[in-house]
Amino acid sequence: MGMQLPEGIQVLERGWLSSNHIVFLDPELPTVVDTGYGSERAKTLVLIQAALGGQPLRRIINTHLHSDHAGGNAVLKAHYPDCQIVIPPGLQDAVTVWDEARLSYTATGQHCERFMHDAVLTVPGTLRLGANEWQVLPAAGHDHDMVMLWCDALGILISADALWEKGFGIIFSELVGEPGFGRQQATLALIEQLAPKLVIPGHGAPFTDVQAALATANSRIEWLMDDPKRNADNAIKALLAFKLMAHQRLSLADIAQLIRQSQIFNTVVHDHYPHDAAELSERFAHQLVKVGAATRDGDDLVLKS
Ligand SMILES: [Zn+2]
Repeated sequence: MGMQLPEGIQVLERGWLSSNHIVFLDPELPTVVDTGYGSERAKTLVLIQAALGGQPLRRIINTHLHSDHAGGNAVLKAHYPDCQIVIPPGLQDAVTVWDEARLSYTATGQHCERFMHDAVLTVPGTLRLGANEWQVLPAAGHDHDMVMLWCDALGILISADALWEKGFGIIFSELVGEPGFGRQQATLALIEQLAPKLVIPGHGAPFTDVQAALATANSRIEWLMDDPKRNADNAIKALLAFKLMAHQRLSLADIAQLIRQSQIFNTVVHDHYPHDAAELSERFAHQLVKVGAATRDGDDLVLKS
């Protein structure tokens, strides 16, 4: 990866179902940024316990509240009762009453175990993580309430789903007809201005060739803006791939059910596709096999390991 992480920061790289966890070893306030997806919570707990080497976790910070970034909050809080959960501003009221629609879990058909937050981040603001001061910066686009964490002294950016080595998260707001592409561009411009030496993304390995990642992301956003159906296609493929990772196997009937139930599928399908759920499941199943995410077993899709 070309640059070592400073002592006291550990990146627990997961996959695409669970976000990475970034652990800050700190004698006073051991902290983890993002906690993965609920179905992998047992492994999340084991990994974080091992990283902390016996110290109790004292703080969770969520870059945003998507189920794959906040799905381990509840299990960690149950295991470490003194741990504080700190979330970005915007959805704190939805968390308090656990409004699954506003929290995106209804729309995506994903599950997140209920948790309570203890504090809300200030954006822009600063906080201490381990030995350094970090800035909390807005990162609208993928999720308009998302934040990134930036340490100027180290030149390290925790980019969440705003920038991956090859791309960024789905621009969800555009799926329901609200602007998002321009806001994603603004977030990429902010990253360019920061000029990080190392980016720790929400998914995938940390990377140092930030210019290349920004070039890829900028051309991708233009490609999406040229034809918003591409964003819709990506959303459906990503949400299905996510379901497949969570369940290992999906039948065509499961996919049809998802298309009928989830709001995002509904809106996207309504705007961009013919409305027959069975025909659509067949079409999307075919696409997942084509991109190599799954193999076909009769009427089932099986996760390609
Ligand atoms: Zn996300």
